[in-house]
Order: sequence, then C-alpha cells, then structure tokens
Amino acid sequence: MHSLELLGVGMTSQRTRDRLIARLMDSGIRDPQVLDTIGREPRHLFVDEALSHRAYEDTALPIGSGQTLSQPAIVARMTELVVAEAPQRVLEVGTGSGYQTLILSRLVPHVWSLERIADLHRRATQTLRRLKAYNVSLRLADGGEGWPDAGPFDVILLTACASELPQGLMTQLADGGVLIAPVEDIDGQQWLMRVRRDGAGFTQERLEPVRFVPLLQGVIR
Ligand code: SAH
Repeated sequence: MHSLELLGVGMTSQRTRDRLIARLMDSGIRDPQVLDTIGREPRHLFVDEALSHRAYEDTALPIGSGQTLSQPAIVARMTELVVAEAPQRVLEVGTGSGYQTLILSRLVPHVWSLERIADLHRRATQTLRRLKAYNVSLRLADGGEGWPDAGPFDVILLTACASELPQGLMTQLADGGVLIAPVEDIDGQQWLMRVRRDGAGFTQERLEPVRFVPLLQGVIR
C-alpha cells in the first residue's frame, strides 16, 4: 500500500511535469534544452511544502517575505533569452527562491546571483547546495550595485522590476552583452526590455508586457 502510494505520487508528478512542458510549448517556448531542464528540475523544492502540489502548475507561487517565485512560462522565456546569448558569465539580480538561478546554472558555465532579503538568500543557498548547483555564487546585497569583482557579464538578468533602466548595472556588461530586465514605463506598465552594450553605447528593445515584484533598495537582515 505504502509503495503503491509512492508510485502514485511519482506518476502524478511526472504527468503534471509533462503537462507543464506541453503548456510552455503552447506559450511559444521552443528551445529544447530549456524545456528539458524545466521538465527535469524539482520546482517543488523551491516552495513551502504546503504548496508543493501546485509546483508544476504554470503559476507564480509565494516564497515568503512578500516575494514570489515567477510563473514557469516567464522563467522559461527569460532563460531562452539568456541562453540565446551563449553567455559565459551571467549575473542575476533577485535570487528569491533560487529556482531561476538553478535553471540557468544547468545551461550556462557560471551564475552569480544577488538577493537583498537575508532569509531568502539563506534558503536559496541551502536548496542550491542540496541540488549540487556548484557553479553558482550567491551574495546577500543590494543588486543595484551589481557584482563589480565578478564582471563584466555577458548577461545581466533582473527578476524584479526596475522603475528605470539600471544604468549602474549596465556598466558591468561586457561589450556585446545584454541586460534583460522588466522596467516600468510612465504609465506603470511593466515591459521586458533587452538592452545590448555596443562599445560605448546601448541599444534597447521593448519585448513584451510582464508582471514582477518591484526592485527595491537596501538589504534586509
Ligand atoms: N528569480 C526568483 C524570483 C524572485 S522575486 C525566483 O525564481 O524565485 C524577485 C526577487 O528580487 C525577490 O526575492 C526580491 O527580494 C529580490 N529583489 C528585489 N530588489 C532587489 C535588489 N535591489 N537586489 C537584490 N534582490 C532584489
């Protein structure tokens, strides 16, 4: 009985993961590596146990401290945009649960990630260690300052919404590197932006409307 139950849980979980992948494909995600990685990695370990049965729904979930783990479709979309650059060095601002960090770490050589809330930083550190994501460096800091010692970066990814383009972070981009970030316009609408460094200048594209928690200043210990 016990083992049957376990088997049942396993099957349900595989089925729900497959359903999630089908949904991501419907929403336009094409990169097989990205789909594979999301299908394989345990999103349920990044949320509270009470929510783990919802971990493979295409929905955002609370992670404590008023923050959310982004919906899989947006994690997949952002990961596709990052992977398209074939980057060596990626900086993420907004570690949160560490789920986006994990997905990236399976697809790029090294990820540096900053989080301003100590409790989230601590939990993400534990979860990522447990999952043997050794090519990840985490730091408790205000991400607005970036990680100057580790740069320049081929990609800088924000998982919280900035009120304007983060100029300071953009100086930590390698030549040809991109910033991928939700940025609010004057009407308060959030847009996913892609800003590419081109020598001394930058070119920006507005990709699509999105919804993220705000990028805030300072560290909460
Ligand atoms: N990628 C995360 C999403 C978490 S939500 C995940 O997969 O779970 C965005 C995160 O950005 C929150 O944890 C929030 O605390 C963090 N954040 C907001 N402003 C920040 C800043 N200035 N520096 C670092 N982290 C910040």
